[in-house]
Amino acid sequence: MRNLSQSIICVLTLVAVGILGVARGDDEPKSSDDQSGEVAATPTTTASSSSSSSTSKPSAPTRRLPAHVGLLKDAKSHTGLFRLYQKGNKLYGELTGSNYRREYMVLIAIARGIGQAPLVGGFTWQLGDDDWIWKFRKIDDRVHVIRSNVRFRANSGFPEQTAVRQAYTDSVLFSLRILGKGPKGGDLVDLSPVFMSDLPQISQTLPGFSFSSTKSSWAEVKAFDRNVELEVAATYASSGRVSFDTVADSRGVTINVHYSISALPKSGYKTRVADDRIGYFLTVIKNFNKKSDRDQFERYINRWHLAKPPGATKAPYTPKDPIVFWIEKTVPHQYRRPVREGIEEWNKAFEKAGWLDAIEVRQQPDDADWDPEDINYNTFRWITSGAGFAMGPSRVNPRTGQILDADIIFDADFLQFWKEEFETLTPDAVEAMTGGPLDRPTDQASAAELIFGKRALKPNCQLSSGMARQICFGMAALGVHKDAKELAVEKEKLIMQALKETVMHEVGHTLGLRHNFKGSRLMELKDINSEEGASQAMVASVMDYNPTNYAPSDWHQGDYYTTTIGPYDYWAIEYGYTTAGSTKELSKIAARSAEPALSYATDEDTIAFDPDPHANRWDLGDDPLEYAKTRAQIVKEVMPGLIDRTTEDGDDYTQARRAFNILLSEHGQSMFFAARLIGGLHTSRSHKGDKDAKPPVEMVGVEKQRESLKLLEEQVFSDDPFDFPSELYNYLAGSNWRHWGQSRFAVRKDFPLHDVISMWQTRVLSQLLSSTTLGRMHDTEFKVPSDQDVLTTAELIERLTKSIFSELDTVEEGDFTNRKPAVSSLRRSLQREHLRMLARLAMGNTVAPDDCQTIAFAELSALEARIGQLLKSNVKLDSYSRAHMQETESRINKVLSAELSLFRP
Ligand SMILES: [Zn+2]
Repeated sequence: MRNLSQSIICVLTLVAVGILGVARGDDEPKSSDDQSGEVAATPTTTASSSSSSSTSKPSAPTRRLPAHVGLLKDAKSHTGLFRLYQKGNKLYGELTGSNYRREYMVLIAIARGIGQAPLVGGFTWQLGDDDWIWKFRKIDDRVHVIRSNVRFRANSGFPEQTAVRQAYTDSVLFSLRILGKGPKGGDLVDLSPVFMSDLPQISQTLPGFSFSSTKSSWAEVKAFDRNVELEVAATYASSGRVSFDTVADSRGVTINVHYSISALPKSGYKTRVADDRIGYFLTVIKNFNKKSDRDQFERYINRWHLAKPPGATKAPYTPKDPIVFWIEKTVPHQYRRPVREGIEEWNKAFEKAGWLDAIEVRQQPDDADWDPEDINYNTFRWITSGAGFAMGPSRVNPRTGQILDADIIFDADFLQFWKEEFETLTPDAVEAMTGGPLDRPTDQASAAELIFGKRALKPNCQLSSGMARQICFGMAALGVHKDAKELAVEKEKLIMQALKETVMHEVGHTLGLRHNFKGSRLMELKDINSEEGASQAMVASVMDYNPTNYAPSDWHQGDYYTTTIGPYDYWAIEYGYTTAGSTKELSKIAARSAEPALSYATDEDTIAFDPDPHANRWDLGDDPLEYAKTRAQIVKEVMPGLIDRTTEDGDDYTQARRAFNILLSEHGQSMFFAARLIGGLHTSRSHKGDKDAKPPVEMVGVEKQRESLKLLEEQVFSDDPFDFPSELYNYLAGSNWRHWGQSRFAVRKDFPLHDVISMWQTRVLSQLLSSTTLGRMHDTEFKVPSDQDVLTTAELIERLTKSIFSELDTVEEGDFTNRKPAVSSLRRSLQREHLRMLARLAMGNTVAPDDCQTIAFAELSALEARIGQLLKSNVKLDSYSRAHMQETESRINKVLSAELSLFRP
């Protein structure tokens, strides 16, 4: 790339240029577009708007002394894609014919932020779904800056084109007065109002703040042949009432906003049609010329343009322009190797798709002076924001899906996995760990809001924060039966493998790939942890969120994380990048979708109310039951000795508390996965005719569902799994530090055991009795032939009640005391929760099927009778159990009478 060309413009030269019409300095590039005094070309879509030569304009500057002479006195000139003149806080642009004819991509990034997501240095900035395309149109004596509407299309020459033009308009963002002719004869405009403004609409995410032009300044102006890089030190002012830990004074918050403007490439890129069996990010356009009786959407995958070298005839090809990733100089030396390996790993998939060395990794030299935001550089960045993320966003031509630029951002926070927030896990955190809402919205608008709206589980990447939890789990578990030396080696291995896997995942995003949450189903856990399993792909896709693979003590320990991309990753890259890209070839590739290693489910398929128990974030192995059982065994094994393993002499005990919470979470989360089997459906994206294709939905085997129920009875609704060494509890202490920068410290000094266990029990029980689960089961009962066994809603509700209130059947005369009660405190709390859910069902306060309401009513009646019998019997209960049973009986009585008095249509 050409070096930046800057010079202070000599006023005398300018005068000469203006008077004599000399257009060009010797140091500037020659281009056919840049002729002196060129008349602006007629804009392509505004036929009446072209202007004539500047000399005929009434508003034109005097001929004796052109306007720019005064305006641009002592201005610094920048020559490249645009001619720019910078003077103090002003930035003038000189637009010529080519500038009016072209379209430009405008990419925005936060170069320096305030450490609060999303205003974090390194973040790409995008409000809405599409990247921006701009054009400049000359309308009389003004230049309009227009954002193109890229979503609709009709081929030229067809009536539909007129219809599209009339129906969908572009947006005029700015109207700039032409100040006169510039030194090169183009139209001189002041661009400051465009960029010295809240153009990115940052104030929308900073309520109470507004852009202050007097407090803002240019941080950088650079012009190159292909692009212009602008950076504004944008100050947002507020009354100072809001405060941020990371900002010295909120009355003036400065955020460096970086604009990368480049001409839309015309590189011979061919769009590639998307297929719903394979997970790519999409570019979607509505084409009114598309002949289809379904819809007029054209869906393209987002991918890089790899071009064959001239003259090459046979695959594999070495692309003319490989995808080059620069490892930023800020990446610590010890992590550069796993980072490089993680990026290069994808070359294996490209090789299968017909490309040699499609990706190239380079190390940014320490003296490099280019910006990572520059569209010409794809970077792997290492930042310290404390926001805890890794992400691989890419910038895409919204007309074609061509990926133009990608920057992977890694927060060093990744390696501080003993997080304060693990001291206190809230119900919100538990919900987030298990896929969010349990009840599917019943109306279309709310459902759409959940999938696309502000509450949506957007396909932005949450891998890094979950990975911190997983590394924490690994560290808490490691060390059983290991000496100090071995332990150090294993800890290092775990971190390096976690880092490489995260890099592979984020690079996958930058290549266009979406999440595949069925990726972890490739192998049985036993095989992953067999001697032969090492160094193979342990998952079908690194685009899943894969948990730490930790083996129970009597197993061989395999890798902690997969060290290589999996079969789905190869397949997806083959589809997106194969050199044989004919429709027929692509259909053939996609038609392999029914192969077990290629199954695919993504973000919108893994909300807690989705039916497929094999689509989970943070599960591993082909069987959720096996995973849950193994996780339970590991937690049981590693609890003893936890304090000593996580706390060294001289340490406080915060790590022990965080580890304990994380272990409970691993137990609870894996049990939640098992609970999704109940009433679950296996889903498939295969199309008709795909080899071995399964139907789109199929009931989970009934025995599997019952087996899951049994596991939950033993591992969630029983006291046994929570019978931890009692000496542990006195050491589960929160941090004693109180200062800025903390928000999630433990409020209680002691560990709130009942609250935490109850949180998990409630979450699992709520999944089983959610109106979505019950509704689905109720439908399945009808859909499946009546001679086939099905787990019915009646069986589920009855069995849960029987199991959760099992003391009513088993309690016999005995020596119960308040220290050794008939019904334990955990069970009493579980029974109250179950009663609450039954009552809601029976009262019709949910949208569960009416049949479930009547079953719940019947169950409550039976329960009331049995409790009555127990209270009248000779069994001498302790105070707690007796009070609990009395209160339960009375509560049921109230629910039943209220239900009967309700008005029914
Ligand atoms: Zn991701």
